[in-house]
Amino acid sequence: SNNHNQRTARTLGSQTGRVPVGIGRRRLRIVVTGGAGFVGSHLVDKLIDRGDEVIVIDNFFTGRKNNVVHHFGNPRFELIRHDVVEPILLEVDQIYHLACPASPVHYKYNPVKTIISLLISDFIHDCDIYKTNVMGTLNMLGLAKRVGARFLLTSTSEVYGDPLEHPQKETYWGNVNPIGERSCYDEGKRTAETLAMDYHRGADVEVRIARIFNTYGPRMCLDDGRVVSNFVAQAIRKLPMTVYGDGKQTRSFQYVSDLVNGLVALMEGEHVGPFNLGNPGEFSMLELAEVVKEVIDSSATIEFRPNTADDPHMRKPDISKAKELLNWEPKISLREGLPHMVSDFQNRILNEDEGKQA
Ligand code: NAD
Ligand code: UDP
Ligand code: UDP
Repeated sequence: SNNHNQRTARTLGSQTGRVPVGIGRRRLRIVVTGGAGFVGSHLVDKLIDRGDEVIVIDNFFTGRKNNVVHHFGNPRFELIRHDVVEPILLEVDQIYHLACPASPVHYKYNPVKTIISLLISDFIHDCDIYKTNVMGTLNMLGLAKRVGARFLLTSTSEVYGDPLEHPQKETYWGNVNPIGERSCYDEGKRTAETLAMDYHRGADVEVRIARIFNTYGPRMCLDDGRVVSNFVAQAIRKLPMTVYGDGKQTRSFQYVSDLVNGLVALMEGEHVGPFNLGNPGEFSMLELAEVVKEVIDSSATIEFRPNTADDPHMRKPDISKAKELLNWEPKISLREGLPHMVSDFQNRILNEDEGKQA
């Protein structure tokens, strides 16, 4: 009956999936794993806007229904609560694979289980990072192989580790600690890239790999521990901004709409990658705190805290490859992008406070 269901789904797919959209392009059916998350939900908005059919797969580990609730009732939108660590059968044209617990707060989540997860799969809790990266990516690649879909992996600049090359080009192999506290994320993504390339070479799956640098914007988790969300939430709540270490470490911050445009350009283009997708503007954490202060509250203060282990000292993408081959580059500076995130955070923090009082 499984076979029968598959055949039925495929038949339906070929009826609904071939409806022309605009001029010269048929409507695509697209899966976005992690589509209820921060980046995923913005990507879903863009795909729905341009007329495609979108199926979101999310287990709501860090994502929220609220991020996609505005599409409920749209016949071109579907939301499936599902853990990508488990297999799933769908008939689709493209797979954007974003599902991954991406917040640093979760890095240290039960590290022993994280290691063992490679060996004994049933033993593992469903939000395990390494397992999601490995088993989740494997399942989505298996799906892509079966139905001939194009598969895009959202990898990360963390594959460069604490880089010895600056800025980082895609040709750099990275400097990652394999046994550190954040290794389950870094190595999980590195393994996911390896899997994607193996399916590309071995099974002819059309693969696309994005290496995403720090991204911010509306709908980010309020308390997931990333630096931009921390500083913005702290400044709004009139708390000191927590600078880890001496604050001289650098990052490059990309506004979410720039990233989404890059992901779509990569998916639609002819190149496998990997491609760095990030904004080359580089800021120390002290400089970032200054910008947040300018944008939100000139009386905001900072407070120093000990840094986490293996924290990369600097990070800045070299995006020449994406510029040349995808004709893509980010358009929105930190000072332009931050205010959009701030108004979203202000509303959500206000609602939270009202919720507490009620
Ligand atoms: P996010 O946490 O907001 O989104 C991840 C989504 O995946 C969430 O909705 C979560 O519920 C879902 N998810 C997690 N595990 C799952 C599982 N096993 N099955 C199904 N769904 C699952 O994070 P984000 O910032 O939107 O990140 C999206 C992707 O981009 C991730 O793969 C992340 O590693 C990558 N990335 C993000 C950044 C960034 O700065 N935001 C940087 C580099 C890479
Ligand atoms: N898979 C899936 N959906 C599909 C096809 C495959 O979830 O439509 C899963 C499958 O269960 C397996 C993984 O993807 O765990 C890899 O599949 P593949 O066919 O490449 O490998 P095999 O099943 O032969 O090990
Ligand atoms: N960081 C900080 N204060 C915070 C949270 C993070 O100074 O409240 C620092 C962190 O030590 C790191 C940088 O900000 O050097 C970026 O951290 P994030 O977790 O946002 O991203 P990643 O380390 O993955 O690049």
